[in-house]
Amino acid sequence: MMNIKKDFLNEELQCIIHEKSCENEEMYLKVIYVLEEDGVKPVCSSHIAKALNIALPSVVEMLAKMQKKGLIKYDGRKGVFFKPKGKQTAKKIVRNLRLFEVFFKNELKMKNGEKFACKFEHAVNPEVITALNKFLKNPTKCPHGKIIPK
Ligand SMILES: [Zn+2]
Repeated sequence: MMNIKKDFLNEELQCIIHEKSCENEEMYLKVIYVLEEDGVKPVCSSHIAKALNIALPSVVEMLAKMQKKGLIKYDGRKGVFFKPKGKQTAKKIVRNLRLFEVFFKNELKMKNGEKFACKFEHAVNPEVITALNKFLKNPTKCPHGKIIPK
């Protein structure tokens, strides 16, 4: 299991994650998921703009793109709603994020692990996540007390 820790701390891995083109889209999906979880329903483009600190027209443009890809349903007045494909991807990202949060806090004893977990939530091989989950003994909640989606 020592190998896992070593891999996650590899600087090269972080570079690959940052260059990944779909990261932005995944960021949006994550924000929509977390806002919904926090009781923001429906999530509106202005909520996303605020959460990501991005100008509203850029958010609207991105949401239109994501709608075309079948990830969400977006209506300027009604708000943003997940399509099954988008929800599934969002769950995966949030699961990755929260498992890494647990790892940084409990295993690496880092106080502000979530700051770094964000960089790891994208583009992680499912096999790695399965191994990480097993290593962490199948945690159900992240350090913030939020549920780790299955
Ligand atoms: Zn958390």
